[in-house]
Order: sequence, then C-alpha cells, then structure tokens
Amino acid sequence: APPAPLDLSDAREVLGRVWGHADFRGLQAHVVAEVLAGRDVMAVLPTGGGKSVCYQIPAILRPGVGLVVSPLIALMTDQVEALKQQGVAAARFDSGVPMEERSAIWRAARSGELDLLYVSPEGLAAGSMLERLSEIDLSLIAIDEAHCVSQWGHDFRPDYRSLGRLAEIFPGVPRIAVTATADARTRDDILASLRLGEARVFVDSFARPNLQLSAERKINGSRARTDAAVVDLVRERRGKSGVVYCGSRDGCERVAQTLRDAGTNAIAYHAGFDAKDRDRRLERFLAEDGAVMVATIAFGMGVDKPDVRFVIHADPPGSLEAYWQEIGRAGRDGEPAEGITLYGPSDIAWSLRRLEGRPMAEEVKQVQTRKVRQLFAMLDGAVCRPQAVRRYFGETDAQPCGVCDICGDPPATFDAVVPAQKALAAVQRLGERFGRTRVVDHLLGKTKDVQNWESSLSTWSIGADLSLTAWRDVIDHLLFEGLLVEDPNEGKPIIQLGDPEAVRAVYRGERPIQVRKAPVRVVEAE
Ligand code: ADP
Ligand code: ZN
Repeated sequence: APPAPLDLSDAREVLGRVWGHADFRGLQAHVVAEVLAGRDVMAVLPTGGGKSVCYQIPAILRPGVGLVVSPLIALMTDQVEALKQQGVAAARFDSGVPMEERSAIWRAARSGELDLLYVSPEGLAAGSMLERLSEIDLSLIAIDEAHCVSQWGHDFRPDYRSLGRLAEIFPGVPRIAVTATADARTRDDILASLRLGEARVFVDSFARPNLQLSAERKINGSRARTDAAVVDLVRERRGKSGVVYCGSRDGCERVAQTLRDAGTNAIAYHAGFDAKDRDRRLERFLAEDGAVMVATIAFGMGVDKPDVRFVIHADPPGSLEAYWQEIGRAGRDGEPAEGITLYGPSDIAWSLRRLEGRPMAEEVKQVQTRKVRQLFAMLDGAVCRPQAVRRYFGETDAQPCGVCDICGDPPATFDAVVPAQKALAAVQRLGERFGRTRVVDHLLGKTKDVQNWESSLSTWSIGADLSLTAWRDVIDHLLFEGLLVEDPNEGKPIIQLGDPEAVRAVYRGERPIQVRKAPVRVVEAE
C-alpha cells in the first residue's frame, strides 16, 4: 500500500473517540483522506475490512449531512442504532419509519444537526425524497454494497440503477462507493453506472492468510451422509464457535436438530423466524461459548463476531463472491480459522434450477449461471483455493497460499481431454436423452441392449479403459465446468451438452481438462 496520508489527525481522533480504534488499517486512511478532500472514491475492501468508517468519519467531519444509500433495511437499523449509542447523530429514513417521526428527521437534517442519514435505494426513488434532499446541505453521498448496481455482480438490484443520477442532481457533493466483492468487470460497471469516472479506486488485497480453506465432494444424492459429515466436522471442532450454511430453511432446521442430537450447541437461523426470535438466536450465538449457528444466507450481513473459528458450507453458495463473503465471517480477529465447503453434482443442478425459476432478464440469468459454474469449477478444481478466488477478483499476482487443502496435499489429477471427448460424443450420440448412469454404462459397454440399438453406435464401449468411478468423476467434472448440463426432467435428470463453443474447444483438443483421481475424502456411510 502507498504511504498513509500524513494529516489525518482529526480523523484519527474521531476513530479513537467514537469507535475506540487505535489507528486506521489497510486502505482506510487513503479512502478517508480522499473523501475528506471532497473527491469521489470507489473502495473495494474485504468483508470485515471496515468499510463503514470510510464514509462515516468524513460525514462526521465535513459540514452537512452524509447521505448513505444502503440496500438492507435491517442492516440500516442496526448501523443507525449502533451509531446513536456511540453518540453520532444518525437517522434512517425508510418505509419503516413512522409518519410522526419523519418531519423531525427532515428538520434535523435541514438544520444540519444530523451527521448521517441512511436511505434505501427504493426510498430514494420514491415520492418527494429527492426534492427534500435538495434542500439539505450534503457532506457526501455513500453508496454501500455498490456491487448491487451491476448485472455482473452477484447481487444485482434494479433499484440501484437509478443511483447514477445522483451525480447530476448533487454536483460537487463527493460520492463514495464501497463494496466487498467486485471482480474487474463489476468494478468497471460500478464506475460507469454510478458515473464515477473521476473517482480514485482503492482495491485492498483479498488475501485472508489466517483462513485455511478446503472443499470436499459429497456423495451424490445422500442427504443423510452429508448431514453425518457435517456432524463429524463440527464435533472435531467441539468448543469452537462456528457457522454452518445451508441452502434452505428446511435443511437448516434439519441440520441444527441433527447437530443438537449429537450433543452440540447448534442454533438454527433463517428468515422464517420472526424478527424477535431471530434477535434472540443471534444473542445466544454471540453470548454462548462454542455455539454453532446453522443458517441460511439470511444470516451474516452486518453480524460482527470476531472469534468465529469455522464456516462450513453444508450446501455451497451461488458464486465465488458469495463464497468469499461467507467464509470471510470466520477469523475476523485474525486468529486461525477454517472454511470448509461440501459440494456435489446435485448442488450445482439445484443452484441452476433455482436461478431458472427467478424472475430476471435472460442476460442477468446467463451471468448468474456462469458465476455458479465458476464457483463449482474452483471447488472441484486443483488450484490453490485463495489463489483461484483472488485471481477471479483480479489480483493477477496472487500466489499459492500454502495452507489450503490443495496446497497441503496436492490432489493427483489426470489429463482428461480424451475421456472428455468420449463422454461428450457419447452424450451426443445417445441423443441427449439419458442420465449419468446410462451414459457411463454406454461408455463401458454395459447397457442391456436387446435390440442392438446402442451397441451399433460408434461410442459404444469406447470407455472400457477407465473404471466406473473414474467415469463418474469425469462426468461430474464436466458438469461442474458446464461442458455438460443436467436437465432435472421431473426428477429423472438427463444429461445434455453444455456451452457449444466450449464443447467444440474440447473436441479440438484446445481446452485442457484435469480431473482429480479420487474425491478428496470419501464420506463413510453410517
Ligand atoms: P465491513 O462493512 O467492511 O465488513 P465494518 O465496517 O462493519 O466492516 O467493520 C468491521 C469491524 O471492524 C467492526 O467491528 C469495526 O468496528 C472494526 N474496525 C473498523 N475499522 C477498524 C480499525 N481501523 N481498527 C480496528 N477495528 C476496526
Ligand atoms: Zn492454497
């Protein structure tokens, strides 16, 4: 990092007085200095990197009200309450604020008593909000979770699109966009959409050297075995505080119950519990020693527990951004912590199916689909985990971490270009009508083929040189890489060819394919 700007004594004084922190860390000082000087900034800082003070401190120090656009009302409420308790004049203005309080908030804003005003992007677009804001002297405009503006990000929100207009409505007011997750393309998109062409961009390294990452393949289709694997993993870490992420509310409650039955202090958490209940569960997690939160993605944003020692994904997330954000909740205190992800072919199928059902533009769907595949390619790949993710985020010089499962025990792989060509050809010859078992049987020449229909195809038994398990691994890997895709077909999944461009590259031998010799760890049946 470049040397920290010298004269930030006022900012340091506020950091110490209000938050009790001895000094800025990472790139905070640089970001704060830019905003204090009235210039536009985009800051990409890792989760837990302390993004909020980057705009809160300049808002306190500069004359006028700092406007903060934040996507989550729950998060906003927490932040504003915390700020008030620390003696900062903060307020939020959203649909949840009672009528009678609204005029008081505007009065305080107009008279300059407020330091920070939090609004949601919908709120900003609605009614007379902009008109009222134009009567206020703004010190800065902060756009939190700025990746939401981009279709290339992992959490696109259409309401964010209109935020670009703020540049014209409030000329001369410095704007700061902050996010924890943005690959290079998303960053460019944020700058363009928010009209931050002149902004200085600060990107902190995404390295989290205290995290030890690993991923394990699940046995396909067996929930009970996955649950048993989670129980084992948690038991091996007894007494430590951790988070287990599940893909659904049902799964979350089931896994929490299974863990409790196994004698661990597991607490379920998802958006199906009412707000009070969720608060109680969160309190317990924060207060009790060795508590394990079993949660959906509803849990996490804004939760600040420094001594989380492990994050286990019982179901994988939907993108590398989400993965990094979620494992990033472990080891915020800088002490060693672990991130363990369980993943399988049925998970990728499920992630893609869920995307299919979401109401969004075709283009957005394609982006999200690619993100799912990139995540699974990393999970099932043979590249150092943090290195793979940091490269994805644009850190071209990222080196192997030395501590992840891949670095610690490099998996044996085999060159699978020829097997991949055979498998793709077999799927094609079979008319893209069958599931994985049938395709493997065909390759091995094992199908009961009474009418000689199949055995007359040129791909029949061309795979006799590999074992049944090796073929399953190859096909799963092709699914993870998107060269094959699985169509759920009402519970009887069939395998079809994936992206035609990529498939052609495999046929031409231009795309390298490395497949692991065996799953990292075979989960034993109980
Ligand atoms: P982010 O939004 O980047 O995930 P937050 O702004 O919520 O992170 O900050 C994460 C935690 O780090 C908070 O507890 C915050 O008080 C703390 N923090 C922020 N800046 C510093 C600092 N300079 N020194 C120590 N702790 C800090
Ligand atoms: Zn590594």
